[in-house]
Amino acid sequence: MINIAIDGPAGAGKSTIAKKVAAEKNYIYVDTGAMYRAMALYLFRLGVDPDDSAAISRNCVGADITIEYRDGVQVVLLDGENVNDFLRTPEVSDMASRTSVNGDVRNKLMELQQELARRQNVVMDGRDIGTVVLPNAQVKIFLTASVAVRAKRRFLELMEKIGTANLEEIEAQIRERDHRDMTRPIAPLKQADDAVLVDTSDMTIDEVVDKILSIIDEKIGG
Ligand code: C5P
Repeated sequence: MINIAIDGPAGAGKSTIAKKVAAEKNYIYVDTGAMYRAMALYLFRLGVDPDDSAAISRNCVGADITIEYRDGVQVVLLDGENVNDFLRTPEVSDMASRTSVNGDVRNKLMELQQELARRQNVVMDGRDIGTVVLPNAQVKIFLTASVAVRAKRRFLELMEKIGTANLEEIEAQIRERDHRDMTRPIAPLKQADDAVLVDTSDMTIDEVVDKILSIIDEKIGG
C-alpha cells in the first residue's frame, strides 16, 4: 500500500491540500485531526474535565469511533452517529488540543489510523503521522506557514462562515495550540528526519498541490 504522510501545525492548509492530493492520486484521505476531535466531543459530552488525565484515560476506551467514506467524503461516526457537523466548534477544538496529549487517547486512535493505512492507499494528515503513526510512509511532507499567514487564513475562513472574527485572538490561539502540540511529551509535532519541508506562506493552494504531486512522483514514480 502507498502511504503518504502530511504533518504540520494548525492552519497550514493540511486538510485542503491532502484532500486534493488524495483526489488526484485516487487515494483515500484520512483526516486524523477529525478523529481527535470526535474523541474530544465524546469526552466533552460526558463532562470530562480536560485537565483530569486519569478521567480521560478511563473514559476514552469507551469511545466507539469509526471512519466511513460516503461519496468520497470522510464521515466520522461516534457510537454510530455522524458527528462531522460538531467537530469544528471552538469548544471541541480546544478540548481536542487538550485531550490529544493523553497517551491512552493517542494509542487508541493510532491503532485505528494504522489499520486504515494497512488496507488502502492513503494520504493521512495530522501532527505525528510521519514520525509515529506511519514511520514507513513512502512520502512524508511537513507543511507549514508563518503564524501571521495561518491566522489570516483562519480569520478569512471565519468571516466567510459566520461574518465575525478577531485576528489577534486567532493568532493567540494558534500560538497556544502550536506550543501545546510541539511541547507535549508524547508524539509532539515535529518534522520527521526524512520529511520534505513545504512552506506554504507565499504559495497558492494549486501551487502547493502541484509541488506535493511532484514530490510524490519523484519518490514513488507517477
Ligand atoms: O488538525 P486538527 O486541527 O483538526 O486537529 C485537532 C487537534 O488534534 C489538534 O489541536 C492536535 O492537538 C490534535 N491532533 C494530534 N495528532 C494528530 C492530529 C491532530 O494530536 N495526528
